[in-house]
Amino acid sequence: MKTRRRLLATAFTALALLGLLTATERDAPADTASDVPRYTRRNAFGVSCGNMESCTEFCKKACDVLPSGGAHCPRVPGGDGLIPGDSPLLKPLPRDLAYVRVDRGDKGTTEVIEGLKRLDAWLAASKERADKNYKVHVSNCWRDGIHDGKVECYFIMKGKNPQADLKLAMPGATPHSSGKACDIHLIDAQGRNAVPGNACTADAKTGSSIDFKTASRMLDEALTNDQVGAQRLNYEAWHYEWGGAVRNDDCRCKAPECQQKFWPPTCKPSTGCKPH
Ligand SMILES: [Zn+2]
Repeated sequence: MKTRRRLLATAFTALALLGLLTATERDAPADTASDVPRYTRRNAFGVSCGNMESCTEFCKKACDVLPSGGAHCPRVPGGDGLIPGDSPLLKPLPRDLAYVRVDRGDKGTTEVIEGLKRLDAWLAASKERADKNYKVHVSNCWRDGIHDGKVECYFIMKGKNPQADLKLAMPGATPHSSGKACDIHLIDAQGRNAVPGNACTADAKTGSSIDFKTASRMLDEALTNDQVGAQRLNYEAWHYEWGGAVRNDDCRCKAPECQQKFWPPTCKPSTGCKPH
């Protein structure tokens, strides 16, 4: 009798396990658990791919080719480097700061929001800011890298290089998609932008009474001091971020190094560093 009971117990256990397995399979987003794509390449911000070859591999995991020849990319991976728009990690940027202007609807991570608050406090105490009567404008912090990745993969799957052919980025995590970066501009007393996002030469025409080099220096000093704690992309005068990249290896700089070593900003990464 004992043996029979044990046999029955074993059968029940097997059935229960089978039920559990079936339930797990049913709950998995893809056909089976082993079909869930794994993205192994990473940069300082999260999942990445670098060139057409590795990005084609990335997009094959993320996308299905449609009979029409286009692509449907439902599996661009969300996560720390590609924060989805509805993530609780994102909150509206503060609109009650004295010297930091943000656009309505812009969102950021706590890291960025706290950084902007420290920037406002630093600006409030700065004599040069008071003398020149400037403010800063935050134009762009978090960007939807999952959506962008779907668009970029759509072209990659059709054999087009998004970067070279379409002036888009390659898919994967960026400082903006991970919520660590903001594009920040210096606005003079007349409301003119003295560090615009298209200033890529020393003599860039900004229309401001403050010359580009002085304005860029002031912005670097306001953002990259130890109190505020941001670092800058060394080839873009307006791109600042909190965390993520390694300073020199990843094309980042702080004042006064940004002006001493990387002036003028050329808008193209110099050799020997990884831009992401
Ligand atoms: Zn940027």
